[in-house]
Amino acid sequence: MHHQTPSDTPSDAAWSKASLLAQAMGRIDEATRAVTPPIHVTTTFIRDPDNQYRSGNVYGRPDNETVREVEAVLSMLEGGAGAMAFGSGMSAATAVFLALQPGDHVVAPTVMYWALRNWLKNDYAAWGVAVDFVDTSDLDALRGAVKPGRTRLVWIETPSNPMWSVTDIAGAAAIAHAAGARLAVDSTVATPILTRPLELGADLVMHSATKYLNGHSDVIAGALVTARDDDFWRKVVRIRATQGKILGPFEAYLLMRGMRTLDLRVRAQCDSALWLAQQFAARDDISHVLYPGLREHPGHALAARQMRGGFGGMMSIRVAGGAARAIAVAAHVALWKRATSLGGVESLIEHRGSIEGPDSPCPDDLLRLSVGLESREDLAADLFAALDRARG
Ligand code: PLP
Repeated sequence: MHHQTPSDTPSDAAWSKASLLAQAMGRIDEATRAVTPPIHVTTTFIRDPDNQYRSGNVYGRPDNETVREVEAVLSMLEGGAGAMAFGSGMSAATAVFLALQPGDHVVAPTVMYWALRNWLKNDYAAWGVAVDFVDTSDLDALRGAVKPGRTRLVWIETPSNPMWSVTDIAGAAAIAHAAGARLAVDSTVATPILTRPLELGADLVMHSATKYLNGHSDVIAGALVTARDDDFWRKVVRIRATQGKILGPFEAYLLMRGMRTLDLRVRAQCDSALWLAQQFAARDDISHVLYPGLREHPGHALAARQMRGGFGGMMSIRVAGGAARAIAVAAHVALWKRATSLGGVESLIEHRGSIEGPDSPCPDDLLRLSVGLESREDLAADLFAALDRARG
């Protein structure tokens, strides 16, 4: 089923993750010897005359070969026992929560991706699972929130959107496991280049693959990677299959194409983000720079241990003068693009309060910045000019 021969591909273990990623595991198409595998679009497969499906393929909703190729790379990157690609990050995340039973208890962070928090608060309640929100960057608070024997899932996001607080994955895993719960990590912003949560004791990793993994703002996709192929994982597999949450083959192809350059992109974005954060910190019209790479950030020491090679490409700034001034800064940029989302090659700026609404813990003078691949000097000059104009 997999298009490779031993002579083409030395054992995976021989090469670094960066090399395997650049070549999408070195898979080629056996039939044509194509370096880039074809996109498998079929929805259905021929049954053998004796009624068997020896290829393992039956129908397109549970699985797809182009999707499997992405999943092999995701599993390799995170060091997992299996991976699944979904039609969005939200689809991946909700699949985990839908695998819980009524009566179960979940702990989730107060600062997390807002749409998932809203779904947990407003819609998931009907499922009969109790959800408590705590500041998971404070392990004592997390320890106080888990209910041994009842909590089945601890969900964390690190660094967390849009304040970029950092949660100790190994510490959270120990607390979750002592209570009999699984730990799932939304690692969208850290990416597998900077952090590998499964190595730190997490049971599941989730990504909005829409962001850094794809990297080009042209695919909506999500991913889960599991530490173990256990009963819980098989339930999540069934949820994806029955609910049709699988990523489409064209999107899977584009995602794989984007992921081949993930390592380079993330490293460049980390370098630019750190440099920009230092420039912003020197401005008196910015009251706070929220970036784990800065020594003043409360999560800096932990991030330095937990994130290898950089602190990520995401930061937020709080503009002195309040919400109106912050919105004016976003109005005056030219190179930064005024848009939601993150992790693409183009730098984005967003007044986060406008999208998260009144229930959000996000301050209303906060601008979220996703640092892309443009010249960092141009990005600084553009934002400084916008700050000057907003000052009037
Ligand atoms: N998690 C984080 C940290 C995100 O930033 C996002 C999207 O913005 C999501 C999850 C949801 O992903 P998607 O938009 O692919 O459904």
